[in-house]
Amino acid sequence: MAFVETLIVGAGLAGLRSLYALREQGVSATVLEASDEIGGVWNHNRYPGARCDVESFDYSFSFSSELEQEWRWSERYPTQPEILRYINHVADRFDLRRHVELNARVEEAAYDEQQALWSVVTSDGRRWTAKVLMLCLGQLSAPKTPAYPGQDSFAGQIIVSATWPREAIDFSGKRVGIIGTGSSGMQMTPVIAETAEHLTVFQRTANYSLPAANAPLTDEEDARVKANYAERREQIRNSPSGLGFRPGKVRTLEVSADEREAALEKSYHRLGFGFALTFPDILLDEEANAVASEFLRRKMGERIADPALREKLVPNDHGFGTRRPSVDGGYFEAFARDNVDLADIREHPIREFTPEGIRTDVGLHPLDIVIFATGFDAITGALLKPRIVGRDGQTLAEKWADGPLTQLGLATAGFPNMVMVAGPGSPSVLSNVIVSIEEQADWYAAMIAKLKADGIAEFEATEAAERAWTDYVQQRAKETLYMKTNSFYNGGEVAGKPRVFMPYSGGVRHYRLQLQQCAADDYAGFELRSAPAAQQATKQAEHA
Ligand code: NAP
Repeated sequence: MAFVETLIVGAGLAGLRSLYALREQGVSATVLEASDEIGGVWNHNRYPGARCDVESFDYSFSFSSELEQEWRWSERYPTQPEILRYINHVADRFDLRRHVELNARVEEAAYDEQQALWSVVTSDGRRWTAKVLMLCLGQLSAPKTPAYPGQDSFAGQIIVSATWPREAIDFSGKRVGIIGTGSSGMQMTPVIAETAEHLTVFQRTANYSLPAANAPLTDEEDARVKANYAERREQIRNSPSGLGFRPGKVRTLEVSADEREAALEKSYHRLGFGFALTFPDILLDEEANAVASEFLRRKMGERIADPALREKLVPNDHGFGTRRPSVDGGYFEAFARDNVDLADIREHPIREFTPEGIRTDVGLHPLDIVIFATGFDAITGALLKPRIVGRDGQTLAEKWADGPLTQLGLATAGFPNMVMVAGPGSPSVLSNVIVSIEEQADWYAAMIAKLKADGIAEFEATEAAERAWTDYVQQRAKETLYMKTNSFYNGGEVAGKPRVFMPYSGGVRHYRLQLQQCAADDYAGFELRSAPAAQQATKQAEHA
């Protein structure tokens, strides 16, 4: 049984960055990774067209100016292979790999209250003990796949976008079906359409999307950004979602219709996700949101020539931004091709799979390959996959049965010496997640090092603090339109999941200030104990 000061679970961006931060603070750490490769979601989501919709310069680590200067991104929005290369480069450049155990899927982590130690077992029976357990499991990493009647009888191939096979799939001569029209489905559609004999996109909910405005990065642009990288990073850290965009100052309806149109038009072409910040109230006020939504509907509509198709592909059941919009590279245009069709499964649901394909109530779609681009059990899904047992034998799943409770998105009461990165109660999916990861990783590393130096055996979020923070997260969400629509922000993506708003919507800057304040107040909201609570209780009982 190997002992390590901190055991990190997951070798994606969060796990590797946390490992680096801990090592810098002189805390030993090992990362357990289920896969045989590092990279997390960027290792698994290898589907054609997979790409990040945050700009390359900003979807990257800021902790090393040498790294920033050395690495040359090739496009404005990085592809999955390029991001995976970057992650591998970082692991080699900073000698992180030797602290990563691959093929180590954590089945169970249990807290020994007397010893204040986490004991972790992987699926192959290996065991580790650690002072601190750090969960870096991802927010969109537990794939959600449907189970249709007859699915096993399908004679073709079923592929899940989030666990895409490593070997190249040849779509030529194949009849392909994609189920799901979130970012993944929208990204892969135009790419697969190019080679498939026929492509059917099965849509349940139409999604908002903006054109990606992707382009190769020129040497001039690369040099310009690198000359002022520190300034750019500062702007990013102080922008609401960690993307560098500052919200407009004037409210939507305070300007004339012409000015409004001009402002929306400008951000539509230049900003990608910044579109939501063209005016400060687009995600806060229904009237403002209706204006932005209408503008986007018109823009999407202009990309679809066929009126019947336009009616189906343009969303009309929710406001822009209340669910995660997409940034696409030719999604709507793909439907103009002769080999691409839309199947509206809201109107005509999938009844069953047969050996030949998918049957809806209007007939059979003959298929050779079906792709599930059906999303994730978001934010809590991956955290609840392993059996995590805290004090008094309580599991994390039991503790969070009515929704996640966290002190500042960091930790939960009853699970001492356990923290999570980019988990519920933190900006996570509402931010450029690398910004959130770096913020938390450095904060945790400083905290763990300080508590070690101070001889603290156990730290634990208090119930009062986690209740207050969780209520505050809900209250901030109520100031927005995010609860108006079912989405993976609020548990609406999985039947039976508690409907609570999970990410913190107050922005990365405000979140950082909260973290700083917590540390300045001697880790307010946490109990710090020089000996484990259980040991203290035993001693008190002996002396009684
Ligand atoms: P998603 O946004 O949750 O979309 C899942 C899609 O599958 C939705 O259209 C959903 O329809 C449909 N679906 C789910 N279950 C279904 C079922 N049983 N039958 C039929 N349709 C079903 O998932 P995603 O596209 O994988 O994206 C998830 C998130 O990952 C993104 O929002 C983004 O945060 C991240 N991501 C980012 C990028 C990028 O950076 N470009 C790329 C991919 C993913 P309903 O809406 O009706 O449920």
